[in-house]
Amino acid sequence: MIAPALIGAALVIIVSWRIARARRRARELDQPFPEEWHALLARVPLWRRVPPPVRAPVEHAAQRLLARVSFIGCNGLTVTDEMRLVIAAQAALLVAHRDSRAYDALYSVLVYPGEFVVEDRDEDEFGLVTVGRRALSGQAIDVSRIVLSWEDIEAGFTGDDGYNVVLHEFAHYLDHLAEGALTDGGALAPSAARWHATLESAYEALCDAVDRGEDSLIDPYGAEDLAEFFATATEVFFERAREFRVAHPGLHAELCEFYGVDPAAWP
Ligand SMILES: [Zn+2]
Repeated sequence: MIAPALIGAALVIIVSWRIARARRRARELDQPFPEEWHALLARVPLWRRVPPPVRAPVEHAAQRLLARVSFIGCNGLTVTDEMRLVIAAQAALLVAHRDSRAYDALYSVLVYPGEFVVEDRDEDEFGLVTVGRRALSGQAIDVSRIVLSWEDIEAGFTGDDGYNVVLHEFAHYLDHLAEGALTDGGALAPSAARWHATLESAYEALCDAVDRGEDSLIDPYGAEDLAEFFATATEVFFERAREFRVAHPGLHAELCEFYGVDPAAWP
């Protein structure tokens, strides 16, 4: 049997550690966004377009994420400050103007040097299970872990091409956080019916375009299902904002309301 004194001592250590951690986080959040961080973020085309009044809350949300979340390098990768910052700043764009605490449930971001392989388990209608392997550029496993390929993050630096694995996976995270309510038609705030109707009609339009073999602004991968559609539409909403507003005015308006920003109005 463990002596009560030992349990008491362990509790004191845990409580003290938690208080120290909370104080450290509060101190980090009080610091202004360091000047050198602006230089590190300058290579991210999306970040360069974010106007200063929009940036301030994003910087705060990024600092909150950096103070709370562990970044873990995988397959021998050493995660640099630049990597952490590039991921946190872009992820923060999604939450800064709606709920800067949205990433508080996130525990770790795993970063691979390039694509990583996961095992896929598929069960058909007859109960036949097939196990395969897939190479991924990112994965939002649940609300506690997000996995990213640094090579694919860097591939997004070439311009506003509508490809942004950070926005994609963190959009999945927000859907997971809402327990899938953003994309499965479940209960969501007052404008839920309009949100789902708009999302579904734009999704159907993408599926039709893909079936007809037509080019689409949103990546054809978005035709997989509504969850992938929401994640791929989010990438284009931020990265090719003006084209997105013209092509999908209804969805653009919904995403403006959801994310609390209008990237089509940015320079
Ligand atoms: Zn996805």
